[in-house]
Amino acid sequence: MTEYLLNKSIDGIKGVGPKVKNQLQKLGIETIQDALFYLPKSYENRTKLTKIIDVEPGNAYQIEGEILESKIYYPGRRAFFAKITDGTGFIQIRLFFFSTPQVKAFIKGLKIRIYGVVRDTGGKLEIFHPSYKIFDSNKRPPLDNTLTPIYSLGSSKITQYRLRSIIKNCIREMPSENLYEKKIDETFSKNNVSKLSIRKSLHTIHNPSIKDEILKIKNFSHPAQKRLIVEELLTNLIGVKISTSRIDKMMSPSVETLDEILEGFKENLPFKLTNSQNLVIDEINQDLSQTKPMRRLVQGDVGSGKTIVAAAAMLSVAKNNFQTVLLCPTEVLAEQHFKNFSFWMKNEDLDIALLTGKTKKNEWEKVNEGLISGKTKILIGTHSVFQERVSLRDLALVVVDEQQRFGVKQRFEILQKTAKGIMPHQLFMTATPIPRTLAMTMFADLNVSKISEMPPGRNPVSTSVMSNKKRDELIKRIEIICENGNQAFWLCTMIEESENLDVQNAESSKKWLEENSENLKVGIVHSKLPKNQKDKVIEEFRSGKINVLVCTTVIEVGMDVPNASLMVIENAERLGLSQLHQLRGRVGRGPNMKAHCILLYEGNLGETAEARMTAMKKTNDGFEISEIDMKLRGSGEILGTKQSGGMELKIADLIRDAQFLDKSEQLAKELEGNSELVDLLMLRWIGKKENLIAAQ
Ligand code: ADP
Ligand code: MG
Repeated sequence: MTEYLLNKSIDGIKGVGPKVKNQLQKLGIETIQDALFYLPKSYENRTKLTKIIDVEPGNAYQIEGEILESKIYYPGRRAFFAKITDGTGFIQIRLFFFSTPQVKAFIKGLKIRIYGVVRDTGGKLEIFHPSYKIFDSNKRPPLDNTLTPIYSLGSSKITQYRLRSIIKNCIREMPSENLYEKKIDETFSKNNVSKLSIRKSLHTIHNPSIKDEILKIKNFSHPAQKRLIVEELLTNLIGVKISTSRIDKMMSPSVETLDEILEGFKENLPFKLTNSQNLVIDEINQDLSQTKPMRRLVQGDVGSGKTIVAAAAMLSVAKNNFQTVLLCPTEVLAEQHFKNFSFWMKNEDLDIALLTGKTKKNEWEKVNEGLISGKTKILIGTHSVFQERVSLRDLALVVVDEQQRFGVKQRFEILQKTAKGIMPHQLFMTATPIPRTLAMTMFADLNVSKISEMPPGRNPVSTSVMSNKKRDELIKRIEIICENGNQAFWLCTMIEESENLDVQNAESSKKWLEENSENLKVGIVHSKLPKNQKDKVIEEFRSGKINVLVCTTVIEVGMDVPNASLMVIENAERLGLSQLHQLRGRVGRGPNMKAHCILLYEGNLGETAEARMTAMKKTNDGFEISEIDMKLRGSGEILGTKQSGGMELKIADLIRDAQFLDKSEQLAKELEGNSELVDLLMLRWIGKKENLIAAQ
């Protein structure tokens, strides 16, 4: 196998010490090439300054001025404030998280340049947690002459600034082009996809110049982006083919359907399964009884009851003396499922184990013993823990919940875990309907089951749309709901421009709720809180100690709090329809409950945003919503880079980029026969060579 120049370790790059290396690893960056293909998720425009007098609350700006004063005080909670002027007006910075050196750097009279979303907090202009730079007036830093790329930082502790500079250094290190790269470039150019080389494309998207048509870059429609999008799509198509042919050569354990046990299980449940749930369970059992590896996707709207379907399948497997795992995207979800499974299966005499990042070492050793000996039949855990440290004896079924990740990389990861020639059956649960055309190309070998009805007694969630200006009216409403014993989610949506903004938003909303109501007990969870604090707050919300949970979209996935009856979504105009629908599905899960969703919007609604809001009011049907979503997106509207359609991709978005699928298929056919080129493509887009090749 050829060694690629870019496959050099990231070690040699300036700015990468052992600590940083560790943090980069969390992002999957180990080589120069990994860094080059770690693509921005959005961009900030810091090429110009705006005068304070010209800003409009709700938008992001770069502003420069003089520090007038700064102080720490306690308006509800400890915060740091700094007041700034540029001669045209005043603006205040507010930080909720800060260190002593940070505070000391704010010296009166120094200049500061800040970037962030401006809010109007009662007649005052403020930016919460801006990115900023303090400087002496005679040492004014030049303005950026490129758009600033924003990278996803995941769970890594690396800063945006550091990551950006490392990636820049990697670009500088790009050695001269090799033969294989050239061949791939030629294929693109010959097929009229793009004349831009991969190098030029990478350079542009990591450092887009202001001459590079900013709007196109921000909308992901620049030729450099197209080049990368098509390459990623075609690589995934090739990956699907390779993994499918490998899986097809393998066998899975045949799992017998034990009718009596299944019937007994159903009878002991606190509810009766819907026809639709029963049908899907039958379809799965049919697959499980074969030695041909199952690859089945269960699609069911939020709240349709997918978990119990997975439980029934896993019960069959366990009772056949095989092992099975349920993989969850978050710890909260894993714990929730563990609780439910333990309850549903309390009469089944089965050993069920939970494994998350929180599991203590000695506990984990016990769990692992149970797994290795084969005593533990059912494991519920987070995806990451499973990848790192679990070995199972008789794994016959892997269920992946809410992951929206069943991409090529995951296929290879599961292939890695399998004993020689034996493949576990695989079941995926998702609330996101996948458009047919995509399913046919990207998931050619996936069978789909649909849960098409809701459990009885579920009332549709009524939805209303409201200007943020009227948010005062909400307080009374929330108070009444909570007095009646129900609870509310208050959701602050992720804003594209900066990592910090979702947190800022959430903090300010919590403060506002507390200031405006004496009765409400408000909690907050977001990505910047330590994990134990997050868990504590979520538990308090579950148990009813907290009435209103302010949160960001990052943590909500799959959360089941049957007592919650109100969902308020701030800046709903920024979210896509499918995501709004997902979020709305978090309320109204209790029987015969009247649940509401309130979509708050800032400023004036544009035409498509209005169409989205109208669709939300009109229907509660996830499939209908997804169709409208496709149509609206088809009309050219782009909402940032939100992933959709069931694969985890670096730049392509299956819905936004569906138009490129044909071309990508054509190129995939042309390239798939050349193993050297395929290796290089897989390395660029899918993952480490060892992982991909070992399973051959
Ligand atoms: P999702 O499909 O979104 O994963 P869940 O599996 O979390 O939905 O189920 C949502 C809620 O509905 C849970 O509280 C679950 O116990 C309940 N549920 C599932 N099936 C039924 C049913 N047939 N009748 C009544 N309640 C049900
Ligand atoms: Mg679920």
